[in-house]
Amino acid sequence: MTRRIWVITMFPDFFKPLKEVGVVGQVFQGMRGEKFELNTVFLSDYSKKGFKGVDESPYGGGPGMVMRADVLKNALVEGVIKPGNYDEDNFKEEFSVIFTAPRGVVWNSSSCKKFANTYLQKDSKKDLVFICGRYEGVDERFLSRYVDEVYCIGDFVLSGGEIAVMAIIDSSFRFSEGVLGNDQSALCDSFEYNLLEHPQYTRPSEFEGMKVPPVLISGNHKKIEIWKEEMQVEMTTKWRADLLDKEK
Ligand code: SAH
Repeated sequence: MTRRIWVITMFPDFFKPLKEVGVVGQVFQGMRGEKFELNTVFLSDYSKKGFKGVDESPYGGGPGMVMRADVLKNALVEGVIKPGNYDEDNFKEEFSVIFTAPRGVVWNSSSCKKFANTYLQKDSKKDLVFICGRYEGVDERFLSRYVDEVYCIGDFVLSGGEIAVMAIIDSSFRFSEGVLGNDQSALCDSFEYNLLEHPQYTRPSEFEGMKVPPVLISGNHKKIEIWKEEMQVEMTTKWRADLLDKEK
């Protein structure tokens, strides 16, 4: 059965390239791994005043606007639960609602793999609904009632959740079985074992006077492996020494 991912957003156009381009685009076109469908739900369609009715100024004052809980709830029911034929009384069993925000669980290699194993494998049970925040964020009452998980993609503030949701979808599908050409390749990438990747080289063997490290063309696989491991430590020490102190 096709698995479904829904994204409630004020800017569905963000997701067009995600559905069409690259490895993840191929997933949504049914050309890689399990079949997943990506449906965008245009939030403005679910407010009484269209685009203008989605947000309001915050109670208690303060800058900016806040996304209304009732409009988001309406989008969830009318834009996801009904067209998706989910059980209106029991939809929590059928999908998880994911929000992104600076307050969320840090999105990193391990939360990403855990997420992929929960939602994106063959035997995963639940569909996904992402909520893209805009303005100052979302009324807390919607979050506390309907959101199951919150993720933060870094210590900076984006203007909206769309890019965070795309980063989550892109990075987690790399760990969904059958998506990468070689299922091992995600496990050789940076952040596995708290190390960065070694430097990579390809043809030509000489570029602007710089030669490829001789060991890589020596044909000695043992030595190549040792070189790669040493370079991983070197790269990590240079760029992300903090990773070396983390628990494996
Ligand atoms: N006023 C909020 C920021 C709002 S930014 C605060 O200070 O925390 C608008 C929306 O962008 C947020 O609701 C959230 O959905 C998204 N967003 C911003 N930064 C993010 C980040 N680092 N990770 C994930 N989502 C983020």
